[in-house]
Amino acid sequence: MDFFNKLGDSIVSVTQEAVKKGKGMTDIAKLQHEVRTKEDFCKKQYEEIGRKFYEENKDIIPESYADLFEEIEAANRRIAELREQIAGLKGGVSCPKCGAVVAASASFCSECGAKINDMFEEEDEDETAEAES
Ligand SMILES: [Zn+2]
Repeated sequence: MDFFNKLGDSIVSVTQEAVKKGKGMTDIAKLQHEVRTKEDFCKKQYEEIGRKFYEENKDIIPESYADLFEEIEAANRRIAELREQIAGLKGGVSCPKCGAVVAASASFCSECGAKINDMFEEEDEDETAEAES
């Protein structure tokens, strides 16, 4: 009887210890999760600050940012080239605004609604106008 009581007590205390440990782990996991969430948030905010700064300064680039701006521009040019290549392989054209592949005959992008052939039409008109004059 005594043995069973003691066994019962020790089982209870082991269980309580496990619950405590488990709770501790849960608390740590919760805190770590919040750290990651805040880190992700800061990353997005930094990105947004950078994007806004870039947009506001791309016409007159601050000297100390010249290299960073040039790298971004070069990467964006390459992205546009690659999208054109992909669109070509898929038998369409790349939307100049969002990069979606749309039919070469399309007037508007099905994804973002941007005009597709606008740029080319203007160029054609200019060439025609020049040829006529
Ligand atoms: Zn688009």
